[in-house]
Amino acid sequence: MNKVYYSREEMQRINTEKLLERGVTIDEIAKIAYNQQYRYNKDIKMEDCIESVEKILSLRDIFHLLQLGAEIDRLVEEKAFKGPIQDIMASDLGVFGVDEIFGLDIARLYGAIGQTNFGDIDVNKPGIVAKLNEQGKSGSMHCHTFLDDIVGAIAAAASTRVAQIWSEDEANRNKK
Ligand code: MG
Repeated sequence: MNKVYYSREEMQRINTEKLLERGVTIDEIAKIAYNQQYRYNKDIKMEDCIESVEKILSLRDIFHLLQLGAEIDRLVEEKAFKGPIQDIMASDLGVFGVDEIFGLDIARLYGAIGQTNFGDIDVNKPGIVAKLNEQGKSGSMHCHTFLDDIVGAIAAAASTRVAQIWSEDEANRNKK
């Protein structure tokens, strides 16, 4: 029997390895989450953002979306798709929205705020998201059509998670 069930620990490790293989570190994703939350809350800590990214990378839905999206990008680089979809994905066509669906689905785990945070990152393209986007559009052999949205959405989810944890802590601090 082929292995299809992975523990959260395994999923986090395999996701981290896949991101590294595609040129993305956890710190770079956490940095986006940190900068996004820092605008609203100066108490945010980078280590909490890193912990949130790691936690999100251990979730089954994220595992499936990240692994699938990264493999689609890799196969596009190898020109493995037949028909118009190969060129559409290779050119990172603006009106191709399937990559955004992956991103929205990840961000949706953290509700409406997660999704608006993803929208912010998708439009403003901070840090590693811009780097992936430029690399993918440079006409080189790189394709990051799916990965830029996946990375942006994980950052948005982490940023939202950090805000939720901070809110819970704040509520506990103010308990009478
Ligand atoms: Mg994209």
